[in-house]
Amino acid sequence: MTDDASLESAAHLVGVPDEFQRLWTPHRMAYIEGGPKPHVDECPFCWAPQQDDESALIVARGTHAYVLLNLFPYNSGHLLVCPYRHIPLYDDATVDEVAEIGALTQKAMRVVRATSNNDGFNIGMNQGAVAGAGIAGHLHQHLVPRWAQDANFFPIIARTKALPQLLGDVRRTLAEAWNAAESH
Ligand SMILES: [Zn+2]
Repeated sequence: MTDDASLESAAHLVGVPDEFQRLWTPHRMAYIEGGPKPHVDECPFCWAPQQDDESALIVARGTHAYVLLNLFPYNSGHLLVCPYRHIPLYDDATVDEVAEIGALTQKAMRVVRATSNNDGFNIGMNQGAVAGAGIAGHLHQHLVPRWAQDANFFPIIARTKALPQLLGDVRRTLAEAWNAAESH
């Protein structure tokens, strides 16, 4: 099992917490334990863009929105697309924000597909805490890569997900692929 103290130390970092514990392989929680710890009360999606890409797990920055890795992923490569503005709901977003969230989501699909060879995606937004939004105050679109073999008994029985790569490594791979695609 994972180390509970390590999981707690990551509680205030960027991401949408859920009830799954994570089994980190090959080096459990090493990246997280060395990570930054922003102020508890600060919105993580407002905090993240003020940091450098590596510490905040940011993959790409647009004009109105940005892309970062979820600290609490359902799967390796679980991305979040967020507007910079602290707005809770999709219909609070401006036309420009909606357009860029859409464009970044499309590009994220291509980059993840190219680097992860996944079979599909779950894409969506939870609107309001009652709908499952972990951080309901700041809009964020989930993009979760799916593999044919990933829907096994493991999360249901053990409430644990096995993640094959450390977040820092995943971020670097995706950011490099993102920038390479940019120049084409
Ligand atoms: Zn915010």
